[in-house]
Amino acid sequence: MVEVERRLLERGHHFAPGGHWSPSDCTPRWKVAILIPFRNRHEHLPILLRHLIPMLQRQRLQFGFYVVEQTGREPFNRAMLFNVGFLEAMKDKAWDCMIFHDVDHIPENDHNYYGCRDMPRHYSVLLDKYYYALPYEEFFGGVSGLKVDHIHRINGFANGFWGWGGEDDDMWNRVHNAGYSVSRPKGDIGSYTSIPHHHHGEVQFLGRYALLSKSKERQKVDGLNNLYYSPLVVRRPLYTNITVDLSRDSAPLQNYD
Ligand code: UDP
Ligand code: MN
Repeated sequence: MVEVERRLLERGHHFAPGGHWSPSDCTPRWKVAILIPFRNRHEHLPILLRHLIPMLQRQRLQFGFYVVEQTGREPFNRAMLFNVGFLEAMKDKAWDCMIFHDVDHIPENDHNYYGCRDMPRHYSVLLDKYYYALPYEEFFGGVSGLKVDHIHRINGFANGFWGWGGEDDDMWNRVHNAGYSVSRPKGDIGSYTSIPHHHHGEVQFLGRYALLSKSKERQKVDGLNNLYYSPLVVRRPLYTNITVDLSRDSAPLQNYD
C-alpha cells in the first residue's frame, strides 16, 4: 500500500488528507464519495486504488475514498458497512453522489463515468467472472451508485444481511419500491475484471430469501434510521479508513418481519 501511495502522490497531483481530490482546471460535475466495504482483503486495495484514482482524475470528478472496515466476530455485513460509510462521508463534505464499490472490481473502460445519473446506476454490468454477461436482470452487485438525496429517500441499505448474499438484491427492491429505475452503461462500457479470491472462513447468509420477501415492509424501519455505531476514523494519504465493530445491536429492528 505504501508503494502505491508514494507513486500516486509523486505524480504531482495534490491530494488533501483522506485522499480528497478535485480538478484544478474546471468545476467538477459531481462530488463523489467512493465507499469500499472491507475486511481482510489487503492485497486488493492497492490494485483498486492504482486503477481507479487515475481514471477518476481523467474523468475530472471531485472524489474521496472511504474504506469501511468491519472488526468483531460477526459475519461480514456489506450493506451495513455501506450505511456507516455513507453517514460518515456526509459528516466530512457535502458529497452529492455515492459509489458503492467492491474492493475486487476493476473497471476496464475509462468511459464508465463515475458521476451519478438522474436514476440509480449499476456500473458493473459485465464481469469477466460471469463471462461478460449480466447474470440476471435484477443484478445490482459489484459497483452501484446513487445520488445522495435518493439514498436518504430509500433509507439506505438494509442492515439485516449478515454474511454473503442478498443485500444487493434488496437494494434493487428498495430502489424500485421508491419508484426509481436503474440505469446502466451501454455496450461493453460496463466491463470489469474481478480479482480472484477464495471465500475461506466466510459464511453465506441462508436467511436472505426470507428477508428479501419482506423488502418493502422493512424498508421503512431498517436502514439509515435505525443504525447506531462507534467508528474509528483515520485519515490516510489516499483514503479515509473507518473501522467499525458491527454487532446485532447496531441496528435494532433489523430482523423485523
Ligand atoms: N468483502 C471483504 N471481506 C470479506 C468479504 C467481503 O472485504 O471477507 C468485501 C469486498 O469489498 C468484496 C465485497 O465485500 O469485494 C463482496 O464480497 P465478495 O468479494 O466475497 O463477493 P463475491 O466475490 O462472491 O461477489
Ligand atoms: Mn469478490
